[in-house]
Amino acid sequence: MFKFLACYTVATDSKVSIERVPMRVRCLGCGEIFQIDPHDQKTWACPRYDAFQNYRLFSNNEFRIDSIEVKHRVAKAKELVCTT
Ligand SMILES: [Zn+2]
Repeated sequence: MFKFLACYTVATDSKVSIERVPMRVRCLGCGEIFQIDPHDQKTWACPRYDAFQNYRLFSNNEFRIDSIEVKHRVAKAKELVCTT
């Protein structure tokens, strides 16, 4: 999808690397922070307080850019070739 969107833009030759992080929540009963799997109900209970689905999202909203590499040469529009 990214390659399609980047086609014929300055991002034509760019690459995207995505690292998924586990979803962590904070128990509203005891404050315990634990990891859940949204597709597995067995993980939705606090391991310490045993409250089911009594939590708020603690992480999984992260968006971090580790690095950006910029090429110095600016390609002319007719030089851009997309391989999508
Ligand atoms: Zn708890």
